[in-house]
Parts: sequence; structure tokens; C-alpha cells
Amino acid sequence: MATLASIGDAVIVTGLDGRIILFNRVAESLTGWSESEAEGMPLKDVLLIHDEQTGDTVESPQIQALRENRRVELTDHILTAKDGRLTPIDTVAAPVKYEGGNVRGVVLVFRNVTARKEAEQAVLRSAEHFRRMADSAPVLIWMTGTDKRCRWFNKPWIEFTGRTMEQQIGDGWVENVHPDDLTRWYESYEACFDRRAPFEMEYRLRRPDGAYRWVLAHGTALHDRTGGFEGYIGSCVDITERKHAEDALVRANEDMKQFAFAVSHDLQEPLRVITSYSQLLLNASKAGNEEEGAMCVGAITEGTNRMQDLLSDLLSYTQIEAFEESSVMVDLNAILDKATENLRPAIERHEATVTSERLPSVYGNDTRLLQLFQNLIENAIKYRSNSPPLIHITVERVKEGWRLSVSDNGIGIDAEYHQRIFGVFKRLHGRTIPGTGIGLAICQKVVERYGGRIWVDSALNQGAKFYFTLPAAQGAHA
Ligand code: ADP
Repeated sequence: MATLASIGDAVIVTGLDGRIILFNRVAESLTGWSESEAEGMPLKDVLLIHDEQTGDTVESPQIQALRENRRVELTDHILTAKDGRLTPIDTVAAPVKYEGGNVRGVVLVFRNVTARKEAEQAVLRSAEHFRRMADSAPVLIWMTGTDKRCRWFNKPWIEFTGRTMEQQIGDGWVENVHPDDLTRWYESYEACFDRRAPFEMEYRLRRPDGAYRWVLAHGTALHDRTGGFEGYIGSCVDITERKHAEDALVRANEDMKQFAFAVSHDLQEPLRVITSYSQLLLNASKAGNEEEGAMCVGAITEGTNRMQDLLSDLLSYTQIEAFEESSVMVDLNAILDKATENLRPAIERHEATVTSERLPSVYGNDTRLLQLFQNLIENAIKYRSNSPPLIHITVERVKEGWRLSVSDNGIGIDAEYHQRIFGVFKRLHGRTIPGTGIGLAICQKVVERYGGRIWVDSALNQGAKFYFTLPAAQGAHA
């Protein structure tokens, strides 16, 4: 008896009839019944318990222990004390046997688990807080187990990739990594993981529409309170815009170099003409030779005009890099109409015919798109053969958006120069055909500005077909 009284758990012993024989102190305090009140009472009247989740009243476990002649355990249950107090308890009931094995009664041991429940609740709450915070963070968050494999992603990650959690946990998410980045990714991830070191890397991750975005990933090892390794947690931030800006900077630097070279080289030529004819003009005026003087003035004027053309084309070219113009939905049919309208005098003079398939609308800037179309059509007229120019525009839906082409029946371009002609001041003709060599460079800049590319398919005397791609506006059709 003394031993029972000193036990930290509540203990009740009943006889075979279910009536209470023994009732210790802790049982008194948890049930609100005194030992003297409880003795002789049927246990089911004293121990009122219900299921914590469902609220259903539960059969006292000692009844089951007797019926089945075995030890019975109950968790997640609530005890209602005599005064209505509620206490979460864990209970064990076991038959008490004589030496011969005959059952004599049941012993029931139960304990107040409030502290444990509160600790569990606190853990659940903090897990819930973490999940909410992670799901509303403007970054993609992931977690791995100790086996290197991912076991959780936050909502932004799921939305970013457009695939379900089930599809992505384990190694499933790797399917969204760009194939060209996979090996590099594995190597650095594994090296850091094995050393439990923090890691940082950039790679491309696929969006639901198939487009890849650059992300910057950070990861750090997770340890429990005793220092045991639990896996990694990390984040990814979309850095595509920054990457594009970096690429644009590299391109701009390249362009600057090309520019500096082209400008110093090509602008020298009209300057040289102006300088030498100025000298001649001086001599002619000293000698009173008016005819020679007039010829010199003509040459100087021509040099100055050429210089002006070069500078103004150069300016339009540089403006494309710098432009921050608004982009809107632009109907390319209207752009084409405007380009042919602007080129009407040349079209009529050379009896050119411009035909086109029905063109789509794209997202862009109308001034730049007009420049693109106008330059290509102007060239198709300028570099004509002996027959009247026939210019045809086509469009086709391809993976990267729209692929358009402007073809002509002109003099064509030898394969050797197919790349070169897109450079600044790069021309294949001397003064026989006027031009500054910037038109195609402008076209290339405009197309690249929209993430497309431009190229030519041609052979000498076979006409030329200029292709370029432009991104398709979502859901747009030709
Ligand atoms: P420009 O016409 O002022 O010389 P471009 O940059 O527009 O400058 O063209 C560069 C060069 O590419 C031209 O000088 C010409 O040799 C060649 N080219 C451009 N378009 C055509 C075309 N449709 N057919 C044949 N050659 C062309």
C-alpha cells in the first residue's frame, strides 16, 4: 500500500466484478474522488474517459483487459474528473493473476500527460508557423533528408515548377533542371553535402510553360539539438533578370569595342576626303581656278553628307541599346503596311511587289519593329537583280515563338558573308549601291532585344531570304 501511494502515476485496482479495491493518491487527485468514496464503486462510474479527437465516450480499458485477458494501452484520451475538470491521460490496464494463472482483478495505471501534450502542440505550432512563413516567402524553399534527396518544397516552388509535391520529392524535381546544368549541379551539391558545407550555385529551372529561368540556390546543413545531421534546407531566388542584364553588359562591351573600331575606321574615310579636298580648294582659290574650286566643294559636300548619314545611322543603332520604350501588342500587318507606305517611292520606281502571309501580333515596340521590317524590305529592293523585285513575307509558329522570313529575288549573298553582313558598317558593295552598313546591325539588335535571332539563307545570284524569330504573345495566332 505504501508503495502504491508513493508512485507518481495514478493506480487503481479492481476485482473481477469491476469494483474498485485500491485507489492511490494520484488517482484521487486526477479523478477528484477520494479513496474512501471510490472503494467499492464500479470503476466505469469513476473513470470517465473520452477520445480526444472524436469526443466519443470510451469503454474503460480494464473491461477490455478482463474480456481479452491481456494488457491494454490507451493514448490520446481525456479524463473527466468528478468536478468536471479535464485531463489528458495515457492509460495501461492489465489483468492481475494468481500464481496458478487465474485472473483475480485488474490493475489500471494512468498518468497526466498535459505537459507532453503541450510540448507536442508547441512543436506542431512551430512547424505550422514555419510552413506558413515558408509558403508566403517570395523565394523557393526546399529541404532534403540525410540521403541527399528532397523531402519537401514550399508552395512558391510548387507553383514555379507547376508540378505536384509528389512528382517532385525524392529526385523527381531534377527533371526541371536544365540538362546542361545537371552535371555541374550534382558535382557541387554532392561535394558540399558530403562535407556538410553551405553551398551556393546558379542553374536553370523549368517553368510550367517550358521556359527556363536562372535561379541562385543557397543551401545549409540542418542539425538537431544534439548536433545530429538532419539534411539540408535551402532557397532559390529567380535571377533571370540579373543574368540578362549581365549578358547585355557583356554584349554592350563587345559592341563598344566593335564600335570604336568601326567608327575610327569608317568615319576616317569621308574625313580624309574632306581634308584633302579642302587643301585642293585652298590651292584652287589661290590660283583663281573656279572650276577646280567648284569640283572641290562638290566633293567636300559629298563627304560631309556621307559623314552625316554615317553619324545618324550610328545614332539610331546606339539608341536601340539604350531604349527603354514601352512594349505593347503590335499588329505586324499594320507594321508591314506602314513600312511599304514609307518605301512607296522606291517600290514604285523599281516596280517592286511586296506580298505577305497574314502576320500575327507580337509584344514589342512599334518604332523598332517598323525599323526591322523597313530595313529588310529596303535592302530587298536595293540589292535587286535585273528583274523587278519580288518580296514575300512568311510566318510560321515554331518552338521559340514566330519565325518570319523576308525573301527576295535579288543579287543574293555568298555564304562566306552570311554572318559578317550583320556587323556595324559591314557592306559587300562599294559606292555602287549607297548605304552605311548599319541596317542589318539595327535589325539584329531589335530582334535580339526581344530574345529572338536573325539569319540569312542565300547564294550569289539566287535571291536572299532573311529569317528572324520573335517571341509569341500568350495564346496569339496568326
Ligand atoms: P547597307 O544596306 O547600308 O549596306 P545593311 O547592314 O543593311 O547595310 O546590309 C549590309 C550588307 O548586306 C549590304 O551592304 C549588302 O551587301 C548585304 N545585303 C543586305 N541585304 C541584302 C539583300 N536583300 N540581298 C543581297 N545583299 C544584301
